[in-house]
Amino acid sequence: MKQKMTNSKTVFNLIKAQLLLDEAEEIMAVSLAIMEKYYRLKLTDILAEKKIEEQNLSAVIARINRHEPLHYIFGEADFYGRKFNVNSSVLIPRPETELLINEVLKTNPISPRILDIGTGSGCIAITLNLEIKNSKVFAVDVSQRSIDTASTNAKTLGADVYFILTDFLKNEISLEPVDLMVSNPPYVKEIEKDTMKPNVLNYEPHQALFVPTDNPLIFYKAIAQKSKTLLKPNGKIVVEINEQFGREVKNLFEAIGFQQTQIIKDLDGKDRIVTAYQ
Ligand code: GLN
Repeated sequence: MKQKMTNSKTVFNLIKAQLLLDEAEEIMAVSLAIMEKYYRLKLTDILAEKKIEEQNLSAVIARINRHEPLHYIFGEADFYGRKFNVNSSVLIPRPETELLINEVLKTNPISPRILDIGTGSGCIAITLNLEIKNSKVFAVDVSQRSIDTASTNAKTLGADVYFILTDFLKNEISLEPVDLMVSNPPYVKEIEKDTMKPNVLNYEPHQALFVPTDNPLIFYKAIAQKSKTLLKPNGKIVVEINEQFGREVKNLFEAIGFQQTQIIKDLDGKDRIVTAYQ
């Protein structure tokens, strides 16, 4: 059936009018994102009132109005200049996690073996593999759907990552020691749920976000403990953290013998990455 031709500016205004978001700027940004995703049009095309075939976007708009993140609706998110498939089984890659990549790259690793713990969409493991020549990257996750998503991303982006389905907290991984352990583990305390926005709380996987309020460092403790066998003698650890625990995570790694440790702040000035080198 032939679709009705219409004017892009009319469609744009219609989308804007249907979005029930609080901030005018957000309505504008989301409307532009929809126009770009579904009609491949930028603001200049809209202002030029280009003719387009109208699409039925009512389902998309309803999902946005229920605060579902745009990344899940579009099924993709940018990370370190590449597009990753995302779905409700994985966390949406955050810009601050790009800092973790930068910290690793700064160390100029030569043909390193890397282990990524809690890989989710695979954004860290895949990016490191693609950015570091001759790297051998292993990535674990507890969720099969997440491993499936990360494997698809690796294939699409041409990365060579070895994915392992396992519960890092419970199981030993049989792996020759690596040069680098990296992770953006769950680090939001259960008690912090009250303060989270509905787009995160109602849609992103809780397994990837939350840790027990009385044991918020559970993943860092496991990383520190397992680094004794999984990390080579001169190995390094680079992890993303909850901004409240910079000192604690740093202390944890110092307590097991890491001598050069550092807390790196994100663009909001919050403690976000801890590095531990021997
Ligand atoms: N930074 C994420 C958030 O605030 C949490 C990521 C994580 O738990 N690793 O939603």
